[in-house]
Amino acid sequence: MSPTAPSPVLIAGGGPVGITAALLLARFDVPSVVLEAEPTHAPVGSKAICMQRDALDVLDRVGCAEPLVAEGVTWTLGRTYYRETELLQITFPDPGLSAFPPFVNVPQSSTERHLWERAVNAPSVDLRTGHRVVGVTQHDAGVTVRVETADGTADVAGSHLLACDGARSTVRKLLGLAFEGHSYDEEFLIADIRADLGFAAERRFFFDPAWNPGRQVLVHPQPDSVWRIDWQVPGDFDLARERGSGALDDRVRAIVGDRPYEIVWLSAYRFHQRLAPTFRVGRALLAGDAAHLMSPFGARGLNSGIQDAENAAWKLAFVVRGWAGDALLASYDAERRAAAEENLRVTGETMRFLVPRNAEEAARRKAVLEQALTDPAARRSVDSGRLAEPFSYLDSPLTTPWGDPGAFPRDPGVARPVVPGVLCPDGPCTVQARPDVSRLRQLFGSALVVLATTTADALGLEMACRAAVRAPVDVHALEEIDRLGVLAPALHAGPRTAYVVRPDGHLAARVDGPDPDALARALRRAVTDAGPPPGE
Ligand SMILES: Cc1cc2nc3c(=O)[nH]c(=O)nc-3n(C[C@H](O)[C@H](O)[C@H](O)COP(=O)(O)OP(=O)(O)OC[C@H]3O[C@@H](n4cnc5c(N)ncnc54)[C@H](O)[C@@H]3O)c2cc1C
Repeated sequence: MSPTAPSPVLIAGGGPVGITAALLLARFDVPSVVLEAEPTHAPVGSKAICMQRDALDVLDRVGCAEPLVAEGVTWTLGRTYYRETELLQITFPDPGLSAFPPFVNVPQSSTERHLWERAVNAPSVDLRTGHRVVGVTQHDAGVTVRVETADGTADVAGSHLLACDGARSTVRKLLGLAFEGHSYDEEFLIADIRADLGFAAERRFFFDPAWNPGRQVLVHPQPDSVWRIDWQVPGDFDLARERGSGALDDRVRAIVGDRPYEIVWLSAYRFHQRLAPTFRVGRALLAGDAAHLMSPFGARGLNSGIQDAENAAWKLAFVVRGWAGDALLASYDAERRAAAEENLRVTGETMRFLVPRNAEEAARRKAVLEQALTDPAARRSVDSGRLAEPFSYLDSPLTTPWGDPGAFPRDPGVARPVVPGVLCPDGPCTVQARPDVSRLRQLFGSALVVLATTTADALGLEMACRAAVRAPVDVHALEEIDRLGVLAPALHAGPRTAYVVRPDGHLAARVDGPDPDALARALRRAVTDAGPPPGE
């Protein structure tokens, strides 16, 4: 670390969200100290297996996506059945030409292993295992965290604190924040079974199969011939009794037949829907399961936690490096709480369909499933999980409004128009001075980016952008980087359009003309900044 390095950002929790945040901060040369309670890093169980393509893109920025894609199982199709009949297929729209498949299934333990390997080798990440956070004090200049270690208690100082210490977050409690919501009575039995089943690499969801009558089963492929099987079971389910009585073997045999199988991991879960009332208290931010907890149908837990880490990391880095003021941190709460509310709404609807709360909801579910057997229109109401997708920051204070927000489709799974607030589509891209770049999103991550369709007065445009904000701004002419001509149509760009893109790849503004004053205003708005101090 250089002698002028800024004070570190403290990260409570070395789970996947905390380590992703530390590695993203390292891209801005912002040091971090990760305080992990466990004495060693030894994650167990597959937990979050479905990594969504835009979360993979974030992991690509820290060098982890390619090994995960190579190790994992790629899938592009989800099938939903009612008894023996296939009701619907789920596919995933792509507004551009993405580098990653819609989903890759890989055990969370592998994701964490790859992240840790990188963090251990990152000079600006200070990983401290056996450091349990037990106290937090905030003051004008920073944050002091008290930790318990094998050698006693100690204080660690930093500029800010990012709480990634999971569902039972100590930091959340120390900040006096509730975790409002509810838990479900029904349980889910999750088993990773190794067996040579010969099934296709697809997500398969069964309502009311003969082998789990009245309830449902989800089957997912994993690497090395392992299958995630997820049974809905009654609230009084007893795993030890199930094992001892042979009922577990009967359950598995109903799916694998008489083929040999091995149980790799087994656990019974009760799911929760919970949300912290704010994701920011002064210099402390909450991310991942510390901030929100949702049922895993839809794979929205870790995928959204990684997007929290991405959103928090660039904002903390901009503030720590003096490129933006504190107001940028307030936008973390506005954006990521809105994303969590949306995820909770979607997963809540799924759980109402999967686990009806009363006779009325149960009757509705049965009627929908029965009708869907013969009526294709009814199939839209069958909810076996609406799969993870990035949140669009249309209503964010950082986004310059464009068009009619009321016309923006907000239903899960529907293709989003490319307007300010959405994640910029990806596609092949060539930059003369950057041989490392082969696709558009590789230009994002550590600066604001302006993509302009016109090269008329390119220099003037570049100077206007750079003068507008203290943060670094990279300006690219689309006609120079879009050699294959796919990016401009994917962006629906006009002949004289400029886009402001944030470090997390979300479009902050579309400026036609492009009018340099409007572009400067949009850049300032994207970092909630009044501009450089006078005289600079
Ligand atoms: C059965 C199951 C299936 C799931 N499937 C999916 C899926 O397919 N896709 C998906 O996106 N999500 C899924 N999830 C959710 C996903 O596992 C979580 O969202 C994810 O683990 C959250 O990561 P995190 O880093 O926020 O928290 P965690 O993984 O809980 O990590 C928190 C870390 O903080 C440490 N810690 C705790 N307290 C302290 C303290 N006081 N001081 C210091 N360190 C502390 C812990 O030791 C831990 O290392 C699933 C979850 C379950 C249970």
